[in-house]
Amino acid sequence: MQASEFVEITEGQTKLLVPSLSLTAKVPPKTPAFFNPSAKLNRDLSILAYRAFLPRLAEKTFADGFTGIGARALRVAVEVPEIQQVYGNDVNPTAIETAKSAAALNSVSDKCRFSVDEVCKFLQKGNEIGERFGIVDLDPFGTPARHIDCVLRSVLDDGLISITATDTAVLCGVYPEVCLRRYYGRPLNNDYGNETALRLLTSLIALTASRLELAIKPIFAHAAMQYLRVYAAVSVSSSEANNVYDNIGYTMHCFQCGNRTSTREFDGNKKCELCQTKMKVGGQLWTSPLHDPDFVKKMSAGAEKQNKKLLDAALEEIDVPYYFRADEISSRLKTHPQSVSKVIEKLQSSGFKASRTPFNPGAFKTDARIDQILQVF
Ligand SMILES: [Zn+2]
Repeated sequence: MQASEFVEITEGQTKLLVPSLSLTAKVPPKTPAFFNPSAKLNRDLSILAYRAFLPRLAEKTFADGFTGIGARALRVAVEVPEIQQVYGNDVNPTAIETAKSAAALNSVSDKCRFSVDEVCKFLQKGNEIGERFGIVDLDPFGTPARHIDCVLRSVLDDGLISITATDTAVLCGVYPEVCLRRYYGRPLNNDYGNETALRLLTSLIALTASRLELAIKPIFAHAAMQYLRVYAAVSVSSSEANNVYDNIGYTMHCFQCGNRTSTREFDGNKKCELCQTKMKVGGQLWTSPLHDPDFVKKMSAGAEKQNKKLLDAALEEIDVPYYFRADEISSRLKTHPQSVSKVIEKLQSSGFKASRTPFNPGAFKTDARIDQILQVF
């Protein structure tokens, strides 16, 4: 490694050694090592989530399967000091050498173990005495689908997993066949495709867990242009695993009039009750809540402005598995767009439930049907 290729930066309270090119290039390069500076808010949220989960954690260990230059792992070591051991792994030896140097800069070398291995081999090994980890993070390039089993097998009972997917084009509906084979569900390429995507990812994790006699409970999820991310508590329970299908269903969407509903049973021939057009099926997917309000409240208490806004939207979000964009409503009505807060106020004063959603700042959730929304305006 040439020292000049790497520069020291501080993110949160942690010193990181990052490839200098990653700070200037439009798309961060994979060589000599990968680092994405724009994922800072994403890593800030991780720190908030891991801190909020601490009281529930029996073994305070953290494993990062695709650690790169160690950005998330080092931040956990420094900024969640209660975590006693941090394990970071990557297939890139240059990245791992850099992570080790940065651990020394932060005086956390004692609690950090960095390794170069295939991710599932790393996870299967467990900690120093072969035990599972308290928290396992998986943030791969592209799809996490092939690694979900390994992650679930490497986490302790009552532990936490956090999983990122960056194959957003697949999950949001550009390649529906690929989505079906990777996630066992159909995507919806529409205005709220990213929420459907998060629910497809969550349902794959839940169904995989149930096969392993495990149950998951999502406690927070968020999405940006380039990624989707789910946090879920994992417990060993065959009886809860038996109930996994209580949380799985379908989102039906009418591409003609914009009507959308959630159903339990698959119906490939369902017609829209408003305009009789054949509806598109999204799923199978997770239809239960993606956020645990108590947990999100804890995260929000320590958050900075931008993330606080996101977390507060998650806190107030009503339990509906899809949203409406404000500009979608105004374009159907051929009027000027209204602010989301105005729309919510108006729906509430007409007797409907309505809220913001963390999945899109320009959107709202409501229990009103599309024709009822249009009528209100
Ligand atoms: Zn319709």
